Amino acid sequence: MAKPAETRTAGRKPVAKATRSAAETEKIRAALAARRDELRAEYDQTLSEITELQRERLTDSAGDDQADTGTKTFEREQEISLANSILERITQVERALERLDEGGYGWCERCGNPIPVERLAAFPSATLCVTCKQLEERR
Ligand SMILES: [Zn+2]
Repeated sequence: MAKPAETRTAGRKPVAKATRSAAETEKIRAALAARRDELRAEYDQTLSEITELQRERLTDSAGDDQADTGTKTFEREQEISLANSILERITQVERALERLDEGGYGWCERCGNPIPVERLAAFPSATLCVTCKQLEERR
């Protein structure tokens, strides 16, 4: 895929001090906030599912043998680890929002170019632009 040449900004150091337009920052903020709300809804749903399933497991545990108990424990651990991973993603997005306010978010750690808004929306924890990411993966 041919990629247009990066706009060259002579002499600019790859640090997080460059500025984005306010409109762009707002776009990122909106995308992050939307993602956070989405994840929170997902988390709430997962929690109520866990509660529901746990209730079913408890009321339905008469006559369980050890294997049943083991399966139930395993299922419960799976659910909890799912909930935890959602929680972790929420934390990531919240941290991203904080860093966005400080101006330290959304810049490629390797080349210092701004990471496209669309990429940040899809991967709030992205720290590399697509080009650098591909370079990393090729190694
Ligand atoms: Zn880069």
